[in-house]
Amino acid sequence: MTQLPLRAQLASALGRSAATLSRMTGRGDGSVIGGRVGLMLEPDLLRQLARDRRLALISATNGKTTTTRLITSALLEMGEVATNAFGANMPAGHVSALSQHKDAPYGVLEVDEKYLPEVLDTTGAGVVCLMNLSRDQMDRAAEIWLLAQKWRRALSGKPTHVIANCDDPLVTWGASTAAKVTWVSGGQRWKEDSWCCPECGGPLDRKDRHWACRECTFHRPEPQWILDDDAVIDPRGQRWVLDIQLPGAANRSNAAMALAVAEAFGLPVERALPRLREVTSVAGRYTTVERDGRHARLLLAKNPAGWLEAFDVADPALPIILSVNAQGPDGRDTSWLWDVDYRILRGRPVFVTGERRLDLALRLDVADVPFALAETFSEALAAQPPGRVDVIANYTAFQQIRSEFGRAV
Ligand SMILES: [Zn+2]
Repeated sequence: MTQLPLRAQLASALGRSAATLSRMTGRGDGSVIGGRVGLMLEPDLLRQLARDRRLALISATNGKTTTTRLITSALLEMGEVATNAFGANMPAGHVSALSQHKDAPYGVLEVDEKYLPEVLDTTGAGVVCLMNLSRDQMDRAAEIWLLAQKWRRALSGKPTHVIANCDDPLVTWGASTAAKVTWVSGGQRWKEDSWCCPECGGPLDRKDRHWACRECTFHRPEPQWILDDDAVIDPRGQRWVLDIQLPGAANRSNAAMALAVAEAFGLPVERALPRLREVTSVAGRYTTVERDGRHARLLLAKNPAGWLEAFDVADPALPIILSVNAQGPDGRDTSWLWDVDYRILRGRPVFVTGERRLDLALRLDVADVPFALAETFSEALAAQPPGRVDVIANYTAFQQIRSEFGRAV
């Protein structure tokens, strides 16, 4: 790899020192502050750090942290990989990730959906992986359409190889200006944001995974990779049973995307798949915390589509604790709770906690789902019989549980 210019070397080194200091003083993992310091000293640092590497950018509303982790695990089969493992998914986080692994020939970067055009322009990444687009806590349908439009502009005229989920009409539209696209049929659980054609606004006709606009020619492209229940079918028609350790259909979809990305890097399925199976939890998700014989498995759900995915993973035979906050990162407005269909929880013991438990309680009441309220997560957990319980929490509620219960077991 060619040497960085002196100024970039210094900026990168000072950024790393700031990150170390931040970690030592207990202010988080330091990846954002370190990157910020580096960018302040050398605004062109991200471009310089990205040069001469093979990079994949991973973006979506849901699953980008997990998919980034799966792809990283796969590419480690070929060599050192720089990655933003802590979900710091804006340019400062990318600078930090790349400067911590200066000599890594590969980089796998999770990118916030809104930052994708900027990061693609700056890094010139060779591979971009796009999985799903749906409303987040604060967004509405028009905003995600604008986002997809920005993706189209950013990808147009670039040599980037895009790996995209063709079951999501908006992702398909966002990806289809790229010069080279590999389509993956990864499924789409949440359809509420894609009943209209993104091209013309006409109605989309859907049948199973297929979709087509009734009024223009926009339709689902033929996939090269297909997620088929617990297996993935590769472009040669060979079927591979996934049997990964991460639970649920959403993670099988993430794994299918990861295999397609790995192949774009020249790594065949038979070498990538065993690496995906090594991933057991991602940033605390799916881990279990324990207190007094109660084993609580933590599921993170940040938006309506994420709640559907979490319901898919939760065991219907177990009690479930739901915890909702409305701090900055969660979105202060909890009206999105009304977008989620909670009726699937009927028949299992449901406990509701978190700062906005009353908002959720009202929603469950309207959906005819019986529940019990708890002041705190500890109280909700203590109310369970010894054994296993599932927990679904949104962002800050999830982080509170993780920090209060310390080390996951
Ligand atoms: Zn149309």
